[in-house]
Parts: sequence; C-alpha cells; structure tokens
Amino acid sequence: MYRRPYRLGRSLTRLGLYATKPIKKKSRIAEYTGRRLGIDAALKAEKSGNRYLYEVNSKITIDGARHGNIARYFNHSCNPNCDTFIRDRRVFIRTLRNIKPEEELTYDYGRDYLKNVIGLSNCLCSRCRKRRKKHAAELREKRARKKARLAKASSKGKTKKTARKTAKKRGGKS
Ligand SMILES: [Zn+2]
Repeated sequence: MYRRPYRLGRSLTRLGLYATKPIKKKSRIAEYTGRRLGIDAALKAEKSGNRYLYEVNSKITIDGARHGNIARYFNHSCNPNCDTFIRDRRVFIRTLRNIKPEEELTYDYGRDYLKNVIGLSNCLCSRCRKRRKKHAAELREKRARKKARLAKASSKGKTKKTARKTAKKRGGKS
C-alpha cells in the first residue's frame, strides 16, 4: 500500500488524523474497512454502543471499530475538508480541497449522527467551537452593555435627586 500522507495524532478530546504533507483536492486517501454486517447484526452492534458503523446501503453496514481501520480516526466536522463516497459497495474517503500539512482531516458524519450520537450542542468541530465562542462573546458584550446602561441610568437618577435636594435647600434658606 502507498504511504499515507497523514498521521494519527491527539485531537481536542481523542485521536484524529493530521496531514503530514500537502494533499491535493480529490485525492482518495483511505478506505473505511471492517466486517460487513447485515441488518440484524448492524442493529445489534448499534444497540451495544458501537460508534463505528458505516451504513453502505439498506442491507450492508461496515463495522469499522477495529484498529486496522485507519478511517475510524477521521473526526466529524460540520465544515469538513474530506468526504466519503461509495464505489462497488466499498467506502472511501477523499479530500474536498487542497490540504496543508498539519491540518486535521475530517468529514461530515451526517445530521443523524450529529443529532443522535454527538448531540447538536456538543460538536467539537472548529466551526462549532468558533460559533460557540462568538456566541459567548456576544452574550458577554450584551451583558456589559446592559450593565453600563444601568450604571448610567442610576447615576443620572442620583444627579437629578441631588439637584432637586439642593434646590429645596436653597429654597428653604432664602
Ligand atoms: Zn460542528
């Protein structure tokens, strides 16, 4: 087999695949390999918590949980640089664009997986992390603006009161 242009490395929470050299767009870089399961075996595997199942079609699912299957280490991303395609009932992973060394290689696991396995708000892909960071920053800004508004309002109130008191005092004296 050809030498892989990527390596296994530590990602944010688990393992991921990282390019070791530039990879051209539309390069086939891996095959998702493993035991081929029929419908019943696939359901059983799913129930037992196997997260490495790739549904090829309505009858065949690949159980990719074994370590020999390097493709199991592609992490999910909502903004991926790879995708999967099926040819002759085999599953391959290819690049969607030119990849720079050290970029993590990812593909989109699909809406169902994101919703049911990862959880929509738990996605750790770069796009979701950025979005959450932005959202948190916006909330902080909003709170800061509100605080500033309140502070201004209360200081205005004080000034008015003081002014009124002063006027009263003056009035009383004269
Ligand atoms: Zn995401």
